[in-house]
Amino acid sequence: MQVYLATYGCQANERDSETILGMLEQMGYRETKKEEEADLILLNTCSIREKAEQKVFSYLGTLKQYKQDKPGLVIGLCGCMAQETDMIKLIRRRAPQVDLVLGTHKLHRLPEMIRNVQGGLGFQWDQEETGEIVEALPAIRPYPFKALVNITYGCNNFCTYCIVPYVRGRERSRRLEDILSESRQRVAEGAVELMYLGQNVNAYGKTLKDESADNKGKEASFANLLYRAQEIKELERIRYMTSHPRDFGEDLIRAIADCPKVSRHIHLPVQSGSSRILRQMNRGYSREEYLALVERIRRQVPEAVFTTDIIVGFPGETDEDLQDTITLLDQVGFDSAFTFMYSPRQGTPAAKLAEQIPLREKKARLQAVMAAQAGNSLRLHQELLGQTLHVLAESWDNGVLSGRADGNQLIHFPGEASGVGAFHQVKVKEAQTWTLKGETHGQE
Ligand code: SF4
Repeated sequence: MQVYLATYGCQANERDSETILGMLEQMGYRETKKEEEADLILLNTCSIREKAEQKVFSYLGTLKQYKQDKPGLVIGLCGCMAQETDMIKLIRRRAPQVDLVLGTHKLHRLPEMIRNVQGGLGFQWDQEETGEIVEALPAIRPYPFKALVNITYGCNNFCTYCIVPYVRGRERSRRLEDILSESRQRVAEGAVELMYLGQNVNAYGKTLKDESADNKGKEASFANLLYRAQEIKELERIRYMTSHPRDFGEDLIRAIADCPKVSRHIHLPVQSGSSRILRQMNRGYSREEYLALVERIRRQVPEAVFTTDIIVGFPGETDEDLQDTITLLDQVGFDSAFTFMYSPRQGTPAAKLAEQIPLREKKARLQAVMAAQAGNSLRLHQELLGQTLHVLAESWDNGVLSGRADGNQLIHFPGEASGVGAFHQVKVKEAQTWTLKGETHGQE
């Protein structure tokens, strides 16, 4: 039996897809990259932007034919879209070829639901929010040398534009010992880099403290997790995604400064440079507070490399607000920025705001922000010329290794395929806007 799995969106979904493939392997499935060979087609979806959802519906349309050609084919939808209110109704109406819809809370039920469909029990769905964290599910990992490790699920921040708290549920933290034990396990299997994942990793442990009457969870903070992970022998680099500026405390800055294995890349989504818009987004900080945080981090971690996320065209955004975003980009000096046009998501407060910005205007603003950021990226990359970076090679093509430096810069350099999965000392020879080129000073 073969499964075709399409993954959309963020690293949390990539991590879920690893678990999906692990569970399916135990059922006897093998992964195929060709839909026409598959007995099971699964879409692990994202609902952050409307466009991503439209893509899924149009893809489901093309799958109708596959189902007609192969009636035993099972088609399933999971991930954030599958958790949205009304999605079951919508799927039944627009894509009746779908056999199962499984939300984000009970991934472990997937094998049972597939068996039910195959057993003739008809359409299956489960969107129940349990808040429960199921540990020790199997997984198939695409890279032996790096691993994604979940530390929190869900989010409590309720930024007014964001659907995540509604589809991923309230914030839950895994137990510190479960995370450390998974980390040690991955390293024992050969991982030299771990990526700790959560919608807001800095809030890690908060819910554990709340839930623990005897304060057992007291030591579960993100800073403490970093100190403990730093002790894992053979582990060389610790990354994390995503940090919320609101919860970036002094203890965390200290931990990053104290732990040399913790990457100097700090992805700190600002979203807007205008305090007025930030307030309307319910981000919990002002422009000045964000800039002060960057300053505090730089004082203790001078080699920190910042990247960010920007949303343009939030309802009511004026030219002046946009200028505030552009000047903030210049002021901080981000190595790169993910820039997005605001996309109204049904059920979020911002979607109901009156002053929605026309698409054409949003596109023009996006161009302006991207152009400003491109200048900054090139300038910062040029400053790296002649420097030697510590790079984990992640892929090889035709005599060229590609990898990420401690600051997450993408760099290409000549090398052998056997160099994938190892760290290299790479001297920067050429700087481009989004990438660097270098030459190796040897494998470590
Ligand atoms: S912090 Fe805000 S943007 Fe990030 S997942 Fe939570 S609600 Fe969404």
